[in-house]
Parts: sequence; C-alpha cells; structure tokens
Amino acid sequence: MDITNWPVVWANYVSIAGFIFLGVLVWLIPKRLIFSGAKSNARWRDVRWWASALILLQLVIYATFAPPAAAETRLYIFDCGTLYLDDVSAFGLSNEETDARVMSVPCYMVEHGGKRLLWDGGLPLSLVGDSRQTLPTGLQTFYPRSLLDQLAMLNLQPEDFDYIAFSHFHFDHIGAANAFADAHLLIQEAEYQAAFVDHEKYPVFDASLYAALTDSPRTLLQGDHDVFGDGVVTLVSAPGHTPGHQVLLVRLPEYGPVLLSGDLYHFSETRSLRRTPVFNTDAEETLRSMDKVEALIAATGATLWIEHVKAQTDALKAAPDYYR
Ligand SMILES: [Zn+2]
Repeated sequence: MDITNWPVVWANYVSIAGFIFLGVLVWLIPKRLIFSGAKSNARWRDVRWWASALILLQLVIYATFAPPAAAETRLYIFDCGTLYLDDVSAFGLSNEETDARVMSVPCYMVEHGGKRLLWDGGLPLSLVGDSRQTLPTGLQTFYPRSLLDQLAMLNLQPEDFDYIAFSHFHFDHIGAANAFADAHLLIQEAEYQAAFVDHEKYPVFDASLYAALTDSPRTLLQGDHDVFGDGVVTLVSAPGHTPGHQVLLVRLPEYGPVLLSGDLYHFSETRSLRRTPVFNTDAEETLRSMDKVEALIAATGATLWIEHVKAQTDALKAAPDYYR
C-alpha cells in the first residue's frame, strides 16, 4: 500500500474526522480540572469553549474545500448492444483459441469537474429493438434499449455533454454519434482524415452514421491528449486498428486508474497471444500500439477493460450505478 497514490481529498477527510474527534475529546476534560485553583469560574475562562470554537472554525474551512459531489469523477457504463459471431478467425484467432462468440458493445460517460465526456457510441441506434437483427454481413446484433433512453434515466440528454470521443469510427463505436453533434469532438487527425475526408477509400467507415458531426466543434489531435487539463482523463493515441484509433485512461480517485481498450484488443486471447485482426489498417502499427499501452498499464497500474469482452463487461456495474 503506497499512500502517496491516495487522492489528496483523503487528507481532507482524515483532517475532518480528526477535528471531530478533538471536539469530543476536549469535552471529556472534567470541569473541576479546568477550574482547580482558578480565581473565578466565569465561562470565558473555560478553555473547552475556546478549543471548540477553534475546532469549529477548522471544520468549516476543511468542509468548504472538500470537493462537492457534482465535481467528483464518475465513470458510467451503458449497454450499447451485443454482437453475435459464428467465426472469430477475422480477429487473428482460430475458432479453437477462444470460446467467445458474443461481444459486448458498451458506451461510457465520464463526469469530471461538472463536465461530461462520451466515450464510444455503441451500435447504430437504428438497430435498437426487442429482437435480434441480422446485418447484411451475417453478423447478428441485439440492442434492446438505446443509449439515449439510458441517459434519460439519469435525466441527461445529448446536449448535456461537453465532449465526445470515439476509440475509432467503425459502426459499433459511433452508433449514437449523430445525436451528439453539439458536443466538442476530440479526434485524432489521422482518424478525421480517414473517416471524414478519405472515407471512400475505407469501406469499413459508414459516413452516414456520423454525418452530423461534419460541422461539430472539434480538436484534431496528433497524439495523447489531456481532456480536462488536470491529468485525470487522457486520450491515448493507439493507431493500427484504424489510422487514428485511440484508447482512454481515466484515473478514478477511489477505484484507481482504468484503461478503456477501444478495439486495441477484442478478446483476452488477442492480448495474451498478441494477435491482430485481419481487417486492421496496419498490423505492425497495432503491435507498436499494444507495446505502448501495455507499458502505460504497467506504469500506472491501470485496470484494462477490454470493451468487447462480454464476460468482463457483464461483471462490471452498469448505469445508473457508476465507478468513482
Ligand atoms: Zn468494435
């Protein structure tokens, strides 16, 4: 246990508890002890009152500077669909190397300092329905409750988001993007070039799914980016799956750092075996990104959440619950 890693706010809470303890302690001093040999028993001569006043002043100061609930950092997970596969060989694994045939498709919201970031947009909202849909590619999807409905449960609307960022612009990560056109888009310049300018060269990008973002306020990134300027939420450039693929590091005060994988990995086995999907734009670059992200995980002690690993996603708390 290394207490230097504890969030600073803990010092605040420990001090508040200490002052309350002191406040009780002074009143355990018997009155006769205080006034023994005193010329008068006037109340202002009772040091317990003076001590209490000072302790109260300290409590007010510490309570004032404790962060309000609205400013705390929270990470929410939404169910933005499920994908069913018969064959995983396109992901660089043989069908014998993994039992996984179902993929979770989560969306995430980070609240920090009263601002909100959407990370990944899930399956297209047009696939929301009570039963499984079969796509022209043969892939089956199930998306029973749209991201927008799940946000409404928290009394939130797309307009309440300050920033949007997507690991990449494949259809299962930007499905709700068009609803968030007012938010500020944080995108790697290489992804912007591929998805918005050269998308005809990349049949994996369906430009209609994010057409509304064409005129969105945006920042074109060339590498890692500190979203809120205080080191808590960092977009980490990890290209290879697509030209401007990125992952997200969130340093949660209580849970600890979490790294959201995007599609750097699709299965636990592609991580342990260092495999790359055949449809990645650059396999060598993907391996370099894996090295970079693994080094970051080792340095920060972050927990890796592989977004498409359903067993892992299912074991995590879903919205309206959250991590902090
Ligand atoms: Zn994906």
